[in-house]
Amino acid sequence: MRVEEGFQPVPFVEGNPYTTDPALPGLLKRILPAHVFHDVSQDMERFGGEVLTTMRNMCKLATPPQLIQYDSWGRRVDELRTSEGWRGLKDIFVREGLVAIPYERKYQEHSRPYAFAKLFIAAADSEVTDCPMSMTDGVARVIELIGSPALKQDVFRRLTSRDPTDAYTAGQWMTERPGGSDVSRTETTATEVQGADASPYGAPYKIDGFKWFSSATDSDVALALARTGRPEDGSRGLSLFLIPVRLPLVRPPGSPRPSALTNNIFIHRLKNKFGTKIVPTAELSIQGAEAYLLGQPNQGVKLITPVLNITRTHSAVGSVAYLRKCLAIATAHSKGRAIKGGKQLLKDTPLHVAELAKLHVLYRALVHFVFGAVVLLGKTECGVATENESLRLRLLTPAIKAFAAEKCATAMEDCMSCLGGEGYMEENGISKLIPDGLVEKIWEGTVNVLSLDLVRATEKSPALSAFITWAQDILNSCPDSLAQSLGGPLAALRIALDVLADAYKAPMHPLLPRPALLLFAHMTSSLNLLEHAIWAVSTGQPDSATDVEVFRRWALEGGLDVALENVRRVKNASADRVQSDAKIVYGTADPKVTARL
Ligand SMILES: Cc1cc2nc3c(=O)[nH]c(=O)nc-3n(C[C@H](O)[C@H](O)[C@H](O)COP(=O)(O)OP(=O)(O)OC[C@H]3O[C@@H](n4cnc5c(N)ncnc54)[C@H](O)[C@@H]3O)c2cc1C
Repeated sequence: MRVEEGFQPVPFVEGNPYTTDPALPGLLKRILPAHVFHDVSQDMERFGGEVLTTMRNMCKLATPPQLIQYDSWGRRVDELRTSEGWRGLKDIFVREGLVAIPYERKYQEHSRPYAFAKLFIAAADSEVTDCPMSMTDGVARVIELIGSPALKQDVFRRLTSRDPTDAYTAGQWMTERPGGSDVSRTETTATEVQGADASPYGAPYKIDGFKWFSSATDSDVALALARTGRPEDGSRGLSLFLIPVRLPLVRPPGSPRPSALTNNIFIHRLKNKFGTKIVPTAELSIQGAEAYLLGQPNQGVKLITPVLNITRTHSAVGSVAYLRKCLAIATAHSKGRAIKGGKQLLKDTPLHVAELAKLHVLYRALVHFVFGAVVLLGKTECGVATENESLRLRLLTPAIKAFAAEKCATAMEDCMSCLGGEGYMEENGISKLIPDGLVEKIWEGTVNVLSLDLVRATEKSPALSAFITWAQDILNSCPDSLAQSLGGPLAALRIALDVLADAYKAPMHPLLPRPALLLFAHMTSSLNLLEHAIWAVSTGQPDSATDVEVFRRWALEGGLDVALENVRRVKNASADRVQSDAKIVYGTADPKVTARL
């Protein structure tokens, strides 16, 4: 039989990623004022079309980067070659204002949700160019907060430009060989340049060290931590620097980009990664690079926090954005694939639709959870957040990043299996998004590392009380008519709130941070869905019954009960649980005796 003969499979058709999304338009309608929603919706619909056409075509031109270290004369050149697709996709993001919108603040605090909504529909078709955009955004924020006027004029203006010929991108160099989650053993040193002319950008320093992961290696500037204090001071001896990745720092628009060697930065090697293969992630040997101190010396870890807050939010939005595309594909496929001798479509098969419904409930919970934090980020940046909102944002940032990465990885695999064998094919995109998305479980902190950050946030401020007040307000705001039909889930949330408050009481069991973060995330996402359902019912939205059902299912069937049980189990664990974990993993034999044998 020739391929044209016999059964011809029907490819799925994906719709506009904005207008066909089951969660985003309704969410934006609730969180944005009517006039902003009107403008934003129009732009989102247009951009959704661009994602399906211009961006997808550009993705076809994206290939892994190449590093040419030496020329034919044996000279070190460190030429980093990125593909036309990679550069083209970055240019589209610049033109679309993904970094510019939050700083132009045309819609004040609503500019943040607007920018992240655009990223949300485009990230899965961006070949991970959202990664350098996230760092560019974070670095722009730090310069906006603590940069000198000259840095704002020459660098911030370019980081937030919409003109690709003039726009700069930025990287973030924190991770070194001794540690990424823990930077206290940072080996990179910074030495003040004595007698140098004062720079309008900040006190000039020379940087020397080895940075183990640099994803935005094709960037123009980078923020880096380097040691100005003694090694024994750990992270308290680190300062924050702006390093020009290539000199001169300021170049006329459209001029060729010099090599990083111009600032004594040697690309030691490109990383050979499991995913994100189009991203030029490299190891860098820095041998006396020119840099400018930002803020006060030895305050580096504190000063870099705004970058982490922004990149972690990007990571959370990115995780859910990848799931968005996988779920859109799985849902579209169910409308065309026939089973049972060709008599029944998957979309009419309850067992299959039940799987899709479970994924859709998770997806909606994550969208509302992540954008709940994005709204607070916008308000905080514009100085209009209440104290309660700022405190809650501190808790939410590590939680959205950890929970989204954790949940989306498995959910993307489930979407893949909804397509059967076709799901495993490279061409449809799911199989590429899974390894690309998995980096979100590691970069900017694993679940465990972020769960410890959440504990720190609860220890140092009244943030948990602020969260509890907010949670009670939402629960109490449920109108009687709705509360009657939602008795079960509302009661479950009230119990979970008590358990959560108890879990974070000091001293905390050493095994509790992770299950406590997961419980916090389940609780908050449920409350975000409840908030949305209440709004939908009270404003008579056409899909309000579905919104109520999604909340009910997520609170009762989405894993809140398991998260609650896991917290209780650890709280009631016997004192030797830590030791028995070690015995399960490493065996009971005395390690010294085993070594002698
Ligand atoms: C593709 C990719 C791109 C990257 N790009 C960049 C970049 O551009 N710039 C940059 O600075 N970094 C970058 N990174 C580095 C990344 O941020 C780090 O790998 C990450 O922070 C983890 O640090 P680590 O590799 O040292 O792992 P470790 O910190 O050694 O973690 C190993 C394990 O130990 C666990 N662990 C660590 N500390 C604790 C603790 N206190 N308690 C319990 N468990 C703990 C972790 O959960 C993890 O499971 C990138 C990484 C990847 C994979």
